[in-house]
Amino acid sequence: MKCPYCDNEMRYGVIQSQHEINWKPKKSKLFGAALFNRDAIVLSEFSFLKGSCVEAYCCDNCRKIIIDYGDGK
Ligand SMILES: [Zn+2]
Repeated sequence: MKCPYCDNEMRYGVIQSQHEINWKPKKSKLFGAALFNRDAIVLSEFSFLKGSCVEAYCCDNCRKIIIDYGDGK
């Protein structure tokens, strides 16, 4: 994938967590599942076997990470 900022080739990788990975419009007082925040986007649901893992591309030039959500659907 080409970086949309500098057009360099980005490095493929993953972001892993022991918890659900989600994006929210603002920081919440309590860590919690997206279930409790209607504006949240779940990047990776938690799995007891695998944990949470989402594919991401990194640009070392711009120090940006790009994440696809919704398994590409
Ligand atoms: Zn870049």
